Amino acid sequence: MSSLPSVSVSPVALLVQKFGGTSVADPTRIRDVADHVARCRRRGDEVVLVISAMGKETDELLRLAHEVSEIRPGREMDMLITAGERKAVALVSMALHAAGVDSESYTGSQAGFLTDTNHTNAKILEVNADRIREALDAGRVPVVAGSQGMSTDRDVTFLGRGGSDTTAVALAKVLGADACELYTDVSGVFTTDPRVVDTARKIHRISFDEMLEMTAAGCPKPAMRSVEFAHRHRVPLHVRSAFTWEVGTWVTEEDPDMEEAVIRAVVADLSEAKVTVTGVPDRPGIAANLFRRLADADVNVDMIVQNASEGGVTDISFTVPRLELDQALQICEDKRAEIGAEHVTSGQRIAKVSVVGAGMKSNPGVAATVFETLANHEVNIEMISTSAIRISCVIAHDQADRAVQVLHDVFELEKTEF
Ligand code: ASP
Ligand code: MG
Repeated sequence: MSSLPSVSVSPVALLVQKFGGTSVADPTRIRDVADHVARCRRRGDEVVLVISAMGKETDELLRLAHEVSEIRPGREMDMLITAGERKAVALVSMALHAAGVDSESYTGSQAGFLTDTNHTNAKILEVNADRIREALDAGRVPVVAGSQGMSTDRDVTFLGRGGSDTTAVALAKVLGADACELYTDVSGVFTTDPRVVDTARKIHRISFDEMLEMTAAGCPKPAMRSVEFAHRHRVPLHVRSAFTWEVGTWVTEEDPDMEEAVIRAVVADLSEAKVTVTGVPDRPGIAANLFRRLADADVNVDMIVQNASEGGVTDISFTVPRLELDQALQICEDKRAEIGAEHVTSGQRIAKVSVVGAGMKSNPGVAATVFETLANHEVNIEMISTSAIRISCVIAHDQADRAVQVLHDVFELEKTEF
């Protein structure tokens, strides 16, 4: 941390520490977390904990609901799912007592999280953290249930999958914490998935913009919503391991002293599928008509590519989460006659491979290098899209690992020192 002066945390700091499901999966893990918090307290830090449901408990509760009933009102789903976090905070608080740390657990509602009434995916409207501040002032460690609150209708709400990160960032913001630490089962954010490329390096520091592009490109952690929130409220994030406790990856504002990497990371996303509508008349309003219908059905469209038209017709391709493919195809098929298109086809076996780096803004030739590298390794590119700091290519599913490896090599990310 000493080499990162502008994000170093003062000796006595206020830290919000969020622990994900794997970090509190069993009694031993819970005791390890408590020991870690005890060490932080001995160092003098003030700590607020945010805890997720243990292990795969959220999935298990969802499964149970599906087994019990076809009718699952959002209100009852939220009452059910939030039980996972409620159980976890009580156990963590007990473990803290055993480790000699005074502590109290709180549900989202008790911790002052007021949300809208959008059950199963509620948004935070306000955090009234008086009780949490009082606990801190009394020298206690508050243990807050992640991803939950109380709605304006006074019902229990769930903030959605991965919502505990959002809880932690929101608390860090209202408490004016020095940092929000997201503890997980990996030791930080890597230049690419170390399970795919063994020379992948841990990134010590990354800007919010780059982190957001990485999450949008398919990097699973941290949750995109929490990174956006942290960015908006300037809360420094520290993504780190609850297993080795080593220093992880800081996600912070871009600062002028920060070395701008041309490429900071390569990300693969294997969760999407491709839809192509061919023979689409090239007239104003056709794309609007189709994509409005997809949006109204909550289909999450990602990349969109339209060809230059030839003879008054064109092709439109786009990607969607594979889970939403059937629905997207149904909608396109329904719309086909209306818009006068020819065919609707789909591709399931695709991967989106992206390179991300803020330095590409001022370095020409990155796109050329990406395309040449893929070509040299016989990887065919089906679709391309870019932002100012990202280049994404859709390729065949079974070439994803190879593409990631060769791109990681060509940009020499194994030499990363940032
Ligand atoms: N336990 C919830 C989930 O798995 C919330 C969270 O962990 O952020 O989605
Ligand atoms: Mg979780």
